[in-house]
Amino acid sequence: MTTVDLAQTQAWLADFAAAIHENAALLTDLDRQIGDADHGSNMDRGLTAVAALNADDFADTAAYLKKVGMTLVSTVGGASGPLYGTFFLRFAGALPAAADAAGLGAALRAGVEGVAARGRAEEGDKTMLDALAPALRAYDEAVGEGVRPALEAAAAAAATGRDATVPLVARKGRASYLGERSAGHQDPGATSATLLLESAARNLG
Ligand code: ADP
Ligand code: MG
Ligand code: MG
Repeated sequence: MTTVDLAQTQAWLADFAAAIHENAALLTDLDRQIGDADHGSNMDRGLTAVAALNADDFADTAAYLKKVGMTLVSTVGGASGPLYGTFFLRFAGALPAAADAAGLGAALRAGVEGVAARGRAEEGDKTMLDALAPALRAYDEAVGEGVRPALEAAAAAAATGRDATVPLVARKGRASYLGERSAGHQDPGATSATLLLESAARNLG
């Protein structure tokens, strides 16, 4: 049985930090169209701080991930900082030691539900939840196949959900100030959330 350990988890965050850095200009450009042009720089600043954490300083995976969440809250800023921070804090709180596919699924569910509660958002509001919620459903459907296949299904569903934000009218966050004019643009947070799942699928399991 494959389980998720601290080394894999650190590799996941390092890979996510690299993906955010590579895509920072894209994320900021998407945010320029329906927000305030800072999502790439916000996330890059936060993930650079996360990548500087040393997993060896933490007793276990949950303690490391709690620090990841707190670091994101204190460094990313904007709407997305508290939301990504909440994702990791709740994820950490629900992650069993040596998590198998079901255990990782429970953590994922806690993280996604935490984002929905914190942002008072639901699917269709044109937010990161439009990538995260379908990813969670796809993960649950494939959980019997193991960590890696379930995460691959989750990442593919996140990408589909991200693409489906384009025609939506934003009902939460800064983009909602634009009303109908927010339609026709891909949501920046759904784009970064898809990178998170894609990194997980490359490193966990
Ligand atoms: P800000 O809008 O404060 O500048 P960012 O640009 O870093 O923050 O993040 C914007 C992203 O945050 C949006 O694209 C959206 O996906 C996400 N977001 C904003 N508000 C919410 C919310 N209430 N619930 C979930 N996600 C949200
Ligand atoms: Mg912004
Ligand atoms: Mg901002």
